[in-house]
Amino acid sequence: MAPFLQRRRPAITFMLALFGAFCASALAGNAQETAPLGHNQSQPPPFVQANKTIRVSDHVYVIPDGRVNLVPNIGIIVGSRATLVVDAGMGPRNGQVVLRELAKVSKNADLYFTYFTTTHFHPEHVTGVQAFPASTEIIRSEVQEKELKQKQPEFISNFSKRTPEIKALLQDVKPRPPDILFDHELKLDLGGVTARLFWVGPAHTRGDTAIYVEEDKVLFTGDVVVNRFFPIFPDQDASGKHWLAILNQFEALQPRTIVPGHGEVSDAGLVSKEQSYLKGVQSRVAELKAQGKSSKEAAQLLSAEFQMKYPDWQNPGWIADAVERFYSEPD
Ligand SMILES: [Zn+2]
Repeated sequence: MAPFLQRRRPAITFMLALFGAFCASALAGNAQETAPLGHNQSQPPPFVQANKTIRVSDHVYVIPDGRVNLVPNIGIIVGSRATLVVDAGMGPRNGQVVLRELAKVSKNADLYFTYFTTTHFHPEHVTGVQAFPASTEIIRSEVQEKELKQKQPEFISNFSKRTPEIKALLQDVKPRPPDILFDHELKLDLGGVTARLFWVGPAHTRGDTAIYVEEDKVLFTGDVVVNRFFPIFPDQDASGKHWLAILNQFEALQPRTIVPGHGEVSDAGLVSKEQSYLKGVQSRVAELKAQGKSSKEAAQLLSAEFQMKYPDWQNPGWIADAVERFYSEPD
């Protein structure tokens, strides 16, 4: 059979949520220079790991990032009728690895009943999809798509300057437009399991989107939650205040399992950990600001302080950016 012509898509329900107010603020942000992403050049190349896929619940598999910078955790959610892949690694070479892992766990792979979505626009989450067959349907929130169009070319060019391996991974990447756009929320019935995709940004990016697998209580947070990495505030579109509000929203879902953007899969305790770090930064920033310290002074003081408090977290270079964002946000 010709699956592309004959397949029937699972039911999709578009739903509006109540984030209108955030929309305006999200779109008001300017295009920013890409900040250095704090990945040092001695890091191993960002290759998605083959043969390491783990099953985290009845329907959900994860290709773990292996704690390598610029490799995201990749999700594969398998229903009886279709499969949803969440994020795809950097460039087509990594996307090929994802497809091979997908074929191992999904009975739907042969039929190309595959959906693909991204937690945010950064190249290591998006560009692997280039290896996916044309029949794969790409789903994205409108805000994320807008941000991708605006910033992705600059990110790809900056990433490509970092190492020859990254340059090679990204050299043939072409934009692949989404097949389905949603404004706030979309429910995807994969057959026996439902994935709820919802736009939550801005936190790490304007287009941050989470995926909640309702039956399994598994939440994909993108880089809004990371495990033993300091959360990344890449530019002025990142928002500490709203980030904290999103974490509350995540907690209210009472997820059993958290798949962070980077770092080990964990339980809901991971959300509280991130919360207490960000609240800690927020309140120390307020204290130092009240004492008349400049943003730069606060960043310096608090970088040392929080690095000491979280000695096993990677990429402490991002503490300063978190401080500067909280410093610039109105009380
Ligand atoms: Zn990111």
